[in-house]
Amino acid sequence: MIRKIRIAILLFILATVAIASWKADKAATDWNDSLHVTLYPIPADGSETSRHYVERLQKEDFQDFPIWLEEEIRRYNNPLLRPVSIQLAPPLEAQPPEFPSDGNMLATLWWSLHLRYWAWRHDAAPGPRPDVRLFLLYHDPQQTSVLEHSVGLDKGKLGLVKLFASRADSARNLVILAHEFLHTLGASDKYAPDGLHPRFPDGYAEPALEPRYPQRFAEIMGGRLPLNDASSRIPESLNETLIGDLTAQEIGLIGLNKHPKR
Ligand SMILES: [Zn+2]
Repeated sequence: MIRKIRIAILLFILATVAIASWKADKAATDWNDSLHVTLYPIPADGSETSRHYVERLQKEDFQDFPIWLEEEIRRYNNPLLRPVSIQLAPPLEAQPPEFPSDGNMLATLWWSLHLRYWAWRHDAAPGPRPDVRLFLLYHDPQQTSVLEHSVGLDKGKLGLVKLFASRADSARNLVILAHEFLHTLGASDKYAPDGLHPRFPDGYAEPALEPRYPQRFAEIMGGRLPLNDASSRIPESLNETLIGDLTAQEIGLIGLNKHPKR
C-alpha cells in the first residue's frame, strides 16, 4: 500500500512538472518577450578564493551574454531588444544534488526531480519569477584544473554551470553559461562524443566557408573553434562564437529550411 502511495505521489509530481515545463517551453522560445534569467552563484569547493569571488560578483559581470544573444537573434532577423534580462541572486551556501555519473536513466530522472525540488527550495532571489534558473558553481582554478561537465535541462529550465572563480576566466565562463542556457531552451550538443571536436556541419559556425579553415568562430553548441579536421580550441569569449542554423531551429529562432542573412 505504501509503495502504491509513493508511486502515485511520484506520478503526480511528474505530471505537474510535465505540464509546467510544457507551458514554459511554449513561452520560452516564441522570442516575443524578454526571458528572465536568474543566476545563483555558489562557491562550490569551499575555498576562500571561490567565496571571495562570488561575494564580489555583480550583474554587470554577465552583461556581455545578453548583448551577444541580442546580436545573434538579430542576425536571424528577430528584432527583439533585450531577449534576456539577468538577475543576480545573492550567493547560495547550499550545494545542489550531484549529477549521477553512472548515466542510469532512472537515476538521472530522479536527480532531475530532486534538482527541481532543490531549486524551488533555494529560490529566494528578489525580482520577477525566473523563466530560466542557472546555478553557477565556482571553483578555485588553483585547486581544480579541469571542470566536470555542466548540465542544462530543457525540462524545468535549470542549469548547473561549472565555472572558474577567476577574473582571467570570466569571458570564457560566459561561453559555458551561454551554452548551458541554450540547452535549457532545447538546443542539443554538436560535438564528438569525446567532446574534443565539433561535429561537421552542424557544430561549425560557418560550415560553408571556402576554404573551410581557418574557421573564424565556434558554434556555441559545438563548443570549440575548429582549427582543422582534427583539432580545435576553446573560444576565448562570446565574441568568438555564433549560433549556427541547427541550434537556431532547435530554439525556435527559425523554421525548418530557412537560412539567415550573414
Ligand atoms: Zn552541452
